[in-house]
Amino acid sequence: MSNNFENGKYWQVGVELVSGCSPCSPGCKNCWSAALAHRFYREGEPGHESGIFTDEAGRFNGDIVVHPERLCIPLKRRKLTVYSIWNDWAHEAVDHDFRRQIMRVAEDCRQHTVLALTKRPEVALDFTRWMGDLGSFPENWWNGLTICTQQEADKKLPIFLQIPGNKFLNFEPLLENIILPFNDEFPDLDGCYEDMRHNIKAVILGCETGRKARQMNPDWAINIVRQCKADDIPIWVKQVTVNGKVSKNMSDWPDELRVRELPWVIK
Ligand code: SF4
Repeated sequence: MSNNFENGKYWQVGVELVSGCSPCSPGCKNCWSAALAHRFYREGEPGHESGIFTDEAGRFNGDIVVHPERLCIPLKRRKLTVYSIWNDWAHEAVDHDFRRQIMRVAEDCRQHTVLALTKRPEVALDFTRWMGDLGSFPENWWNGLTICTQQEADKKLPIFLQIPGNKFLNFEPLLENIILPFNDEFPDLDGCYEDMRHNIKAVILGCETGRKARQMNPDWAINIVRQCKADDIPIWVKQVTVNGKVSKNMSDWPDELRVRELPWVIK
């Protein structure tokens, strides 16, 4: 385990394999990636001329461009690295063949860790079924589900938990108090029932950041930390709202939130 990532980052390198996206959750309201794309496109930043990804208001408009030419990036790096795939690799407009190509790269560089976050578990599950005998998620691949509200937890968790392999949950931004169904059992892809503890191997949480950030009540975060600790699930608190401002400095936080544990190795 590692706890030495500065600024709460739980990955080392973000690789934008999918440019563009479309909002699909209350958590998308102030999407940082859309804000960056909007700014870069307007400023004519090199590498951002391949499409117009945002609307007048700066939200992603559903236009998608995938980047197979960037798949070689992890292959060239020997040093053990934790990669995060941007944006949503399970967006409906990305085809399964490209998802399979991403997975093949992870298979070919097992020294690295690949974090594949989505807000679309139904597409990720469909991809798993589509793969069938073509393969399964390698050990260095982590499927992550972002959840911001109780309604999302109730709707998306039963789908996400059917996906095999390593899995983590990401509560960023945590927008309300969420009760996790740790004691419920869910059917996996083979119809076998497993409880959530066996399925989820890490949890990340944090408040929203940026100019329009919505505040996170520390009690909501403490509640998630307690639920994870009761079930021995490693948890990483990234940032917390303190006195109305975003704080990445753990010494400002309530004691119970000063926890940063991960099952993937960072060197
Ligand atoms: S899913 Fe992620 S990248 Fe896509 S709009 Fe929502 S926050 Fe932005």
